[in-house]
Amino acid sequence: MPSAAPPKFRQELAETAKAIVAQGKGILAADESTGTIGKRFSPINVENVEENRRAYRELLFTAGSELRNYLGGAILFEETLFQKAADGTPFPELLKQQGIVVGIKVDKGTVELAGTEGETTTQGLDGLADRCAKYYQAGARFAKWRSVLKIGQNQPSQLSMIENANVLARYASICQQNGLVPIVEPEILMDGDHDLERAMEATEKVLAQVYKSLNDHHIYLEGTLLKPNMVCPGQDCKKSYTPREIGEATVVVLRRTVPCAVPGITFLSGGQSEENATVHLNAMNQIPLSRPWALTFSYGRALQATVLKVWKGEKGNVQAAQKALLVRAKANSEACQGKYAGDSGSGNESLYVKDYKY
Ligand code: 13P
Repeated sequence: MPSAAPPKFRQELAETAKAIVAQGKGILAADESTGTIGKRFSPINVENVEENRRAYRELLFTAGSELRNYLGGAILFEETLFQKAADGTPFPELLKQQGIVVGIKVDKGTVELAGTEGETTTQGLDGLADRCAKYYQAGARFAKWRSVLKIGQNQPSQLSMIENANVLARYASICQQNGLVPIVEPEILMDGDHDLERAMEATEKVLAQVYKSLNDHHIYLEGTLLKPNMVCPGQDCKKSYTPREIGEATVVVLRRTVPCAVPGITFLSGGQSEENATVHLNAMNQIPLSRPWALTFSYGRALQATVLKVWKGEKGNVQAAQKALLVRAKANSEACQGKYAGDSGSGNESLYVKDYKY
């Protein structure tokens, strides 16, 4: 069988993917681009300059000795991969010392697909092999690429599904050739008033297309992770659903589409409140249906919203902000084992942003 993963990397890719989603562990997505982190800093009046971005990421990566129990991986933006903690330790080293695998965002954002109603593809394939080799050298062992799809009257269109699945597969192939585990992220946005059934239908179609393309491109599935949206009703849906209904809808769709060779599914939070993202993950891990993959978290907003609010850019708030990160990371560690008792006591505010760009 041809494989995108060269023999010298196969075992390492599978071991890396497995380590990231080891029991009770998930991923901290701290790979906000310079523009996106600016949007996080602006409400707390922190200037978006390199030193503040560095100081904030240091706060996250030095949150405390417990962090290693909850995180298998952390995704960084390129700038962060080459930054250092105040004591001179490079960030990749700091994470490695804690047994946290270093990841890197490698896509270059979305552009509109002409002739569609605002659907997009994701750019970044040119020069990607060289960048992956450089990131591996710098200590990264996995990568992330975000594709974005929408639910609407004629959306996701066949074009956007085929195009995004193909570009994800090309990215995955280039990563595996260079020793990085690709996190394959086809995010269907929560924008719209669609119900849960419609979200199930769209997610099933998108994931089926993604796995067809990964197969066509000879991707070594054991050395990949999937980062999907949870199957949730649209943000403006009139009907409300219980966590159990959302958890079950998500697990049903994943069972229909994701091969059991994939070691883990690491959800994005997608604008859910911190608490909802935890409760829904917990519900999935309690559904009495067999689940051959780990179901865990790879949250950006749902791990950092309270942290940012507590920190406010002040040195004196660093410890309290780190504590807030540990609270959410622990809650999600419990949720990925179906053991969350709903006792984190915070994080109910919606983090939804229309037409979200990362
Ligand atoms: P959110 O959890 O904030 O949706 O972001 C995760 C992510 O990595 C998006 O690409």
